[in-house]
Amino acid sequence: MQNTTTARELAGAFRALCTAQAVLAGLLIKFTEPAAKRDTPYSSDDVGALLSMSRHKARALLSQAQAVTARPAVFNALLEGKIDLGKALLIVGKVQLLPASQADIAEAKLLEYAPTRTYVSLRKWASQLVCKLDPAGTERRHAEKRRRRMVEKTNADDGMCSLHVRLTAVDGLLAWGRIDRLAKSLAIPGDRRTLDQRRADVTRDLLVGEAVHASLRQAKVQVTVPITTLIGINDDPGVLAGYGPVPASVAKEIAAGGTWKRILTDPATGIALDVGRTEYEPSEALREFVKARDGICSAIGCDQAAENCTVDHCTPASDTTASAMDFRSLCQHHQRMRHESGWTCHHMDDGRHFWITPSGGFYESESEPIADPSPTENLDGGNPGPRAPGAADA
Ligand SMILES: [Zn+2]
Repeated sequence: MQNTTTARELAGAFRALCTAQAVLAGLLIKFTEPAAKRDTPYSSDDVGALLSMSRHKARALLSQAQAVTARPAVFNALLEGKIDLGKALLIVGKVQLLPASQADIAEAKLLEYAPTRTYVSLRKWASQLVCKLDPAGTERRHAEKRRRRMVEKTNADDGMCSLHVRLTAVDGLLAWGRIDRLAKSLAIPGDRRTLDQRRADVTRDLLVGEAVHASLRQAKVQVTVPITTLIGINDDPGVLAGYGPVPASVAKEIAAGGTWKRILTDPATGIALDVGRTEYEPSEALREFVKARDGICSAIGCDQAAENCTVDHCTPASDTTASAMDFRSLCQHHQRMRHESGWTCHHMDDGRHFWITPSGGFYESESEPIADPSPTENLDGGNPGPRAPGAADA
């Protein structure tokens, strides 16, 4: 069994750390008052001298303090140890993108969601919420950032160099997918290069115009788009598999040239529904369904895209029926963890999925809705669903 005293102490120490981060932020603001003084270029020199740190580091601390103290609700959640500084800064950053009235709505929803989710899950969900609350702003920011696409070369030590390419998420997924699959197809006996080395070599060959000798399927991306967006009722965002929410215009652009599959969702929860199967081994269609439903690895706190996961059984196989419910997307690491260590996963009939750790910890892994719950089923104003019914491969 889990050592409950230690577990409690550990959780308590983490909460105390979050509280200390809030106290530090509050004191930094107080130390640099009045605001007019804080806004001079020298306020961070004062803080740096006091704390024996560079003024750049002091400036960073000070701007974080300004950010979290600017939103009292976020500051209080940090002070109470419900969220850590990373999540607090993320919420403030996302909320700042919205007009004031919508910012308050988003802040409340994010503060409700944040304590039990990982940073990555919160970031994805927050982006989704911002896209939904302010589609015009989302399109504007996307267009602006798209204009700033570029390639940057940084010289590194020991005869090395880095190339940094900034592309749209769709182009990045396509390019990475091609590099990755080419590199994997070159894994032949006798080739002792690591996957990282093969990816670098393939990228080099593609960029300098040398032939890459490998056969390859056509690259594809998958996007899930609400039907309401497609027929123009609203501009709710789509979700790009392996990335997250994208503006409606981007989702529609991908969908326009795609092959369509309809995904039915539970009207109450927006979670993708099961398609019954009688065979034990998941068929290709079932595998695809499970990956589209899960979006990411179904282990607690893992963000690996379902595209790179294996579809694995989540309970010992029964020889009577096997449905999508019995399968979950698991990344390589978590598949190994499940088979090689004492972690077990189980599912309930209502779709909930939970993990029990070797030390007796119990964690529910929450399914991400892929559609909005229907309005009549959702009178309590539940979380907006990240995705909706309809997925296209393009
Ligand atoms: Zn995982």
